[in-house]
Amino acid sequence: MKTETLKPEDLHWMCEKCHEKLAVGKVTVEYLGNQFVTDLPTCPKCGQVYISEDLATGKMAEVEQLLEDK
Ligand SMILES: [Zn+2]
Repeated sequence: MKTETLKPEDLHWMCEKCHEKLAVGKVTVEYLGNQFVTDLPTCPKCGQVYISEDLATGKMAEVEQLLEDK
């Protein structure tokens, strides 16, 4: 077993269910009652969206910023 630091560009995620390689595409996400479109890795087979904690935090911060600017 080897230990490595994962970088986002090194992530080659697979769907846990289908073992399909995830494709990054436009996904509609709902947050705080607002819908927005963003690029996220999804399974081309079952449509499951995978989002890392860092990415989620970043995206949500982005959205909160947008909402506050209203
Ligand atoms: Zn899948």
